[in-house]
Amino acid sequence: MEKKPPAETVDCRAASRLLSIAYERKLTAGESESLTYHLDRCLMCRNFDSQLKFLHRASEKFRTGNG
Ligand SMILES: [Zn+2]
Repeated sequence: MEKKPPAETVDCRAASRLLSIAYERKLTAGESESLTYHLDRCLMCRNFDSQLKFLHRASEKFRTGNG
């Protein structure tokens, strides 16, 4: 069965914004649905997502590491 598109679809700009926001607060169900839908279809934003994850992890290490 085909997955139904979310009520609100996002473009790359909105998707990358949501990706950054997701590190500051929990996304709403609608936001994360729109984001997931976009990521499923957009390689560029998936790459951006892994970059963010990498940066986030690096900065966390920096913050907590070496006391
Ligand atoms: Zn995109």
